[in-house]
Amino acid sequence: MRETSIALVTGANRGIGYAIAEGLVKHGLTVVLAARDPSAGPAAAARLGARPLVLDVTDPASVRAAAAQVDDWYGRLDVLVNNAGIAGRRDAQTPGAVDLDAVREVFETNLFGVIQVTEAFLPLLRRSGDARIVNVSSGTGSLAWMTDEQHRFAVRRTSAGYPVSKSALNMLTVQYAKALAGERIKVNAIAPGACDTDFARGLGLRLERTAEQGAAAAIELATMADAPTGHFRDDAGTVPW
Ligand code: NAP
Repeated sequence: MRETSIALVTGANRGIGYAIAEGLVKHGLTVVLAARDPSAGPAAAARLGARPLVLDVTDPASVRAAAAQVDDWYGRLDVLVNNAGIAGRRDAQTPGAVDLDAVREVFETNLFGVIQVTEAFLPLLRRSGDARIVNVSSGTGSLAWMTDEQHRFAVRRTSAGYPVSKSALNMLTVQYAKALAGERIKVNAIAPGACDTDFARGLGLRLERTAEQGAAAAIELATMADAPTGHFRDDAGTVPW
């Protein structure tokens, strides 16, 4: 990556997104800390030496305005981290008792939001010459892990929403990686593991990891020389799709 690489992280005012932004600042990147809450972004950005930007991934006008602002500031983007994500109303996602609105809400952020943001920033990424897109997925989106009875995700409560949105995000990662393969834009997904964030508290998981540990694979894929494309990783290596 060039020294003055420009990175944007969505949902970066707290949790894993904040830790990714912090890691990218430490690597010397110029970081745009995107947050939907106009009052939360500036304080978080000031703590890191990042630049705040309002961006709600589900709002087309907000996404368009954010891309125009980054174009105005820098004229390009080198790293896009699609981190913003929600768990949604868990009880409303149980197969057999699904409230479709709850599932739609999860997909609006975790899948359609990623498509919307990626499409809006693609013209700026195309001007990079060595661009990276990192999608923050989840091990719960791994069909291989979910169908392995020995794996701890396989014994979790079932859901027609969140893990399905992350499996779809994984396929989206593969599709963009293939589509952009000839354009020096690398597209990968990461699984942060069960990290102690607002999102994960209350999910009944053993949260053995910090947000910083969850951020590590995203930071590596965003900054490493000769990054792969179309991979799904955690910080131990490849995650099976
Ligand atoms: P978190 O602490 O709840 O943070 C989520 C972030 O996403 C917040 O900044 C939130 O903004 C933002 N966000 C939500 N909806 C948004 C929208 N429409 N537009 C822009 N930003 C939005 O959660 P986290 O644990 O850091 O999760 C980050 C990512 O990691 C998610 O994609 C999640 O699925 C994934 N993940 C987490 C874990 C885990 O164990 N924590 C495990 C696997 C995957 P507000 O502050 O305004 O709500």
